[in-house]
Amino acid sequence: MTVSGGNHKTRTRVAAGRLALGRVPMILMYHGVADVADDPNQLCVTPGRFAEQLAALQRLGLRGVSAGTLVDAMRAGRQHGLVGITFDDGYVSVLEAAVPELQRRGFTATVFIISARLGGTNEWDEGPAWPLLTGDQVEKLAAAGMEIGSHSATHVRLADLDASQIEAEVSGSRVSLGELIGVPVRGFAYPYGSMSATARRAVQDAGYDYACAVETPVADLGLMALPRIYVGQRDGAARLAAKRFLYRGYIAVKGRRS
Ligand SMILES: [Zn+2]
Repeated sequence: MTVSGGNHKTRTRVAAGRLALGRVPMILMYHGVADVADDPNQLCVTPGRFAEQLAALQRLGLRGVSAGTLVDAMRAGRQHGLVGITFDDGYVSVLEAAVPELQRRGFTATVFIISARLGGTNEWDEGPAWPLLTGDQVEKLAAAGMEIGSHSATHVRLADLDASQIEAEVSGSRVSLGELIGVPVRGFAYPYGSMSATARRAVQDAGYDYACAVETPVADLGLMALPRIYVGQRDGAARLAAKRFLYRGYIAVKGRRS
């Protein structure tokens, strides 16, 4: 081997994170669980609909788990029968309405928190303002058995930022959330699903174990770019079952570079 040590190390790490399409686990992406009158971006499901969806997953023989638990199961070759459940942004409604329903069924989930917006609102969205969890409430979520992940510091498109800005959003949020909950933060979710090779590398270098995207080009599938499927109010039991059945085909088509 004539490859220098540094290059070799980089290549090994990248290879270790790669994922074949056939091994990609199904991960659901939610935002809020609330009965809201005005929801132009279709970010909320009602508590009743959410309960129906969890019941539908159970009927399909699936157990909902946090993304971190799912990644551990993948590594152990035991992901069969598991589906990842994730919530982006960290709305108060997740603690109030989703957690009791998850707990009732023995499910867990990951909640991706925006570290510099604790107790704030989703002011980056054009639309109604909904409250975000405070630091105390994030601790309650963790105590309830939910995984806490990072959704950056301020909710910006990482693909638009330079390296030092990315580091502040990615590494900075991991440090502050870790201090809040007292355990290392393993997971990251790209705001708007916006990622680049630079962003993925920054996530890995910051010490994260995995990261969730939305649509991932097939060539980029890996632990630093796990695709997720949107679940909304319109997803009844039949549509959820179809999404499960078609999941990998959906990812392959959606993720193809245009
Ligand atoms: Zn978000």
